Amino acid sequence: MTTTAPVQLPYLQSYPAPLQQQARELLAQGRLGAALLRKYPDAHAVRSDKALYDYAQELKNRHLRNAGTINKVLFDNKIHVVRHALGLHTTVSRVQGNRLATKHEIRIAAMFKQGPDEFLRMIVVHELAHLREKGHGKAFYQLCQHMEPQYHQYEFDLRMYLTHVEHTGERLWGGEPA
Ligand SMILES: [Zn+2]
Repeated sequence: MTTTAPVQLPYLQSYPAPLQQQARELLAQGRLGAALLRKYPDAHAVRSDKALYDYAQELKNRHLRNAGTINKVLFDNKIHVVRHALGLHTTVSRVQGNRLATKHEIRIAAMFKQGPDEFLRMIVVHELAHLREKGHGKAFYQLCQHMEPQYHQYEFDLRMYLTHVEHTGERLWGGEPA
């Protein structure tokens, strides 16, 4: 008799068992990629750091006008997507003359340069929300949902995509193989 350990799903471990089971079945049937492409057929057109900056700035102006200035937004190919890190938000404060200058930088993992708009928006919204809320508490996720009502659905589907890439090595909207 052999027993097979269930497939590990590190990107989905905080989700309820039935959702993880759904992912396992789609993976086992080789249908996860097709399911994602059917749901998100179109890739976004944000091709450069300049375009990404404008994209983030536009979202910020619409929802978080008074939350400070973002100094820099870029795709970073040094961010390795593991577990939680899809992007990074950093605040650097330094004294300039007699006042404290704060610089906000948002870095998005370069693999999301190729992907649907919904995934990019979810990550940018997450990093923008950190301008106001440092931690990942209730207020943080309320702010994310205020900026993108489908935030939680997009995060789940994005994590399904990471699961697909991890198990198959296949990128769905173009880009370098994993
Ligand atoms: Zn965060």
